Amino acid sequence: MPVTGTFSVFLKLSERSLGPLGLFGGTFDPVHFGHLRLAEEAIDQLALEDVRWIPAGQPAHRGPPRVSAGQRLAMVRLAVAGNPGFSVDAAEVEATVPSYTVPTLERLRAELGVDRPLVLLLGADALAGLESWYRWRELFALTHIAVSHRPGFPVAATALPPALAEEFAARQRDDAAALRVASAGSIVAFEMTQLAISATQIRQLQAAGRSARYLLPDKVLDYIQTHSLYRNS
Ligand code: ATP
Repeated sequence: MPVTGTFSVFLKLSERSLGPLGLFGGTFDPVHFGHLRLAEEAIDQLALEDVRWIPAGQPAHRGPPRVSAGQRLAMVRLAVAGNPGFSVDAAEVEATVPSYTVPTLERLRAELGVDRPLVLLLGADALAGLESWYRWRELFALTHIAVSHRPGFPVAATALPPALAEEFAARQRDDAAALRVASAGSIVAFEMTQLAISATQIRQLQAAGRSARYLLPDKVLDYIQTHSLYRNS
């Protein structure tokens, strides 16, 4: 019997709400087109339903960001505005403790349930440093990982330290369909348009009084200039 009317709408909504959800954490100091293309191409290539951007409050794996968490959050909000596939999660920014991904994933699991496929989006450089993350082995019970290629950073088990290389080899899947078969545990690589843009480069250009235009959205650059951010290196 064909499914019609209200029931069919309900079915579609519930099917949709179980689609893989991309999670994109970062310092975003500032957000730039490399980040935006990564998230956009992840939706497209991996058939994600949505990408939730999660700016880090006090990132645990690196030195303190150059500008405040509130300013980085404001720039991410400006960058993603108007894209219905993007949303912003401000919880790490609002927290008073350092940001760690596993506790964030535990919070999201409590919110979204155990069955929803979650896909943590990482650039290849971030994957290479995964072993330094707090409780990193627990990531795989909570989420899938999708790794984008990034200029200068190969995506291959041979480029990783031994324990991580072992996890990578055991969990890597060639087909993004693996992200729907289970709610967590697989690693998928995807080849995004290669953009050799980094937040470091943008901060350096700003500090030198040089143009960062076309490396990041105009609205974000306007925000940086209005608030005199990154003036000194
Ligand atoms: P910084 O230069 O300050 O280290 P960044 O440009 O690497 O910053 P982050 O906020 O640290 O930006 O990165 C967030 C995520 O985006 C990471 O997983 C990183 O690998 C990825 N990423 C950043 N820039 C690119 C890019 N140009 N191509 C692919 N992935 C990227």
